[in-house]
Amino acid sequence: MNIELQCCALFILFTISVMFLREKKLDLMNRRLFFRAICACFACLIFDILSIILINLSVYRDFPQSVTSIVCKIYIMLLVIQGYFGYVYASTSLLPLDKSWAKNLKFACHLIFGIGELLMLVLPIGFTADGRIVYSFGPSTTVAYLLSAIFILMTILTSIAYRKQMPGRRFVAMILWQGIWLLAAAIQFMIPSLLLVGFASAFGMVILYIQLENPSEYFDGSTGLFTTNALSAYVHDKYKFGKQFSMFTAKIHFLIDYVDYNMEHDAVIRTARALVALGSEPAFRIDDDTFCVVYDDKDRMFERAAEIKRQKDNVKDIPAKGTYLLIPDSLQMSGPDEFFRFLHTYLDSEQEILVADETMVGELREQTMTKELIEDALANDRVEVFYQPFYNVGTSRFNVAEALVRIRLENGEIVPPGKFIPVAEESGQIIPLGTRVFEKVCEFIAKGEALKAGLEQIEINVSAAQFNYENPEKFVMENIKKYAIDPGMINLEITETAAAQNREIMLSNMSRLIENGVTFSLDDFGTGRSNIDYFVNMPVKTIKFDHSFTRGFFDNEKLRYVMTGMIDIFHMLNMSIVAEGIETEEQMNVMKSMGVEYIQGYYYSKPVPEEEFLRFLRNGNK
Ligand code: C2E
Ligand code: CA
Ligand code: CA
Repeated sequence: MNIELQCCALFILFTISVMFLREKKLDLMNRRLFFRAICACFACLIFDILSIILINLSVYRDFPQSVTSIVCKIYIMLLVIQGYFGYVYASTSLLPLDKSWAKNLKFACHLIFGIGELLMLVLPIGFTADGRIVYSFGPSTTVAYLLSAIFILMTILTSIAYRKQMPGRRFVAMILWQGIWLLAAAIQFMIPSLLLVGFASAFGMVILYIQLENPSEYFDGSTGLFTTNALSAYVHDKYKFGKQFSMFTAKIHFLIDYVDYNMEHDAVIRTARALVALGSEPAFRIDDDTFCVVYDDKDRMFERAAEIKRQKDNVKDIPAKGTYLLIPDSLQMSGPDEFFRFLHTYLDSEQEILVADETMVGELREQTMTKELIEDALANDRVEVFYQPFYNVGTSRFNVAEALVRIRLENGEIVPPGKFIPVAEESGQIIPLGTRVFEKVCEFIAKGEALKAGLEQIEINVSAAQFNYENPEKFVMENIKKYAIDPGMINLEITETAAAQNREIMLSNMSRLIENGVTFSLDDFGTGRSNIDYFVNMPVKTIKFDHSFTRGFFDNEKLRYVMTGMIDIFHMLNMSIVAEGIETEEQMNVMKSMGVEYIQGYYYSKPVPEEEFLRFLRNGNK
């Protein structure tokens, strides 16, 4: 009898089913749909074999024809179910389930499927056998072929339409799977004695299993836990299908500088074991030393997190502490992207226990919006530089100014740097942003208008990151050359915090720029840690007294003595002084009498755009 191929197919399917069911599994929608497709394939093959046997019995012996007809019908109905499940498996992860057209499409497929099955049930079916040629025919069978073709076609079309949204491997697997089916059907049509279709569908399942449903990147070899990739798939799945979850992460922080490999390995393995022993929920290793477990229920999550912390606190032989980030409700975040951004942002927190709340999510959103604002400003040339003049006490002229960055919104509104510089420093955007500011200042100087109006130097703020990240000579000197300006026109303002972070690099970078004629100021003097070492050994020409420091002069007697003394010291060191934040005539007069060289503040001018600044200079330096 012509059932050899089908038997082989059954054997293949049985093997992958056993493998599939035995392996550690993550409850993903795709996996469930895949398993459903395998079951349909199984049932289909069994009825395929059964129908061939019964057709032979009915044709060559006198087995009741009605029973054979029923079995043939079940077979073709299962064939369509298989095609339909295949399509659902292929499309569910791709179609946007919340869109109405996707919902309509889903409904239409259900309908076609339902009507098709009904038609197959009621329409007549015939069968015939002639040696190895065995088949059923009639209206019922025609409907089955038609529907199978529709679902195959839809699977292929969906795969093609969403090609860009899926990994290349998935696309190839989908096309191969459906292509093999089509090819088998075509061959079987031309050579009716070659019953290939059943075998082809089992073979397709093997392709899907190997390529898609057995991803080795989901398993961490050394701990047996799931990986970050698995977590990503899992979390996307949960959000997509509206399943709320809770989660805790546990991170190992070693308390010693040198951790040898065995100790680290031991800590990791023990953590992994403890997490697995917590219960049946999936545990992931999401970084070398970071783990997480996902729960359906937040009470259970809290309870299990407390248990793991208790166990950790009992470990005395590993010099490490644990930090825990608890996310009680996945709906606190708007979706997988925000969820992972949240993890990324808060996983490094040094706090022992951090429970996600609205404030944290709010801050994250604000930070994300600010990052987008900066990115957008850089891309659409909405980074602007304002200038604030310094009054030179000795010459009674405005010959120096500070460049201060702004972002102009589309509606013309101005965003001050306090709103975005800290985020830019954190995200690394300060590098392109700082370079842009520098370029704009050079461009402004190169126009020559400011020089004509009496300006001699512009001070530009630089963040620590700008000086430690890459060779700062590059963006400074490149632009100075590009715009052919005098390097002496440029003064860079650095802060004590910047200088403290990476002193060696900072100093060597500074000295190279100084050789090229650029000068430096120490900004924000009087805030933070005012270490004498900084201004004694730092090659700065100017000290800028911070607002708080100059303000303090007026209401704190002790500070008045400190300031008077500091001014003398700086003058002895041949440095000049800028007093920042001078807003009133009284403040201005006091600063003048104290002997500071420059006065900066709203008393003279706020930071203003280029044109306004030029007008101010032309007036002030008449
Ligand atoms: P900063 O370097 O201390 O700059 C002086 C700040 O004091 C400016 O604020 C300025 O507008 C403000 N100011 C000046 N005179 C007065 C006054 O009389 N009264 C008061 N209340 N404020 C006065 P702004 O422009 O908002 O800048 C804030 C900070 O942002 C700057 O503080 C600086 O640290 C940073 N920043 C600005 N532009 C840049 C830049 O291009 N790069 C970097 N890395 N940081 C920048
Ligand atoms: Ca400054
Ligand atoms: Ca300052």
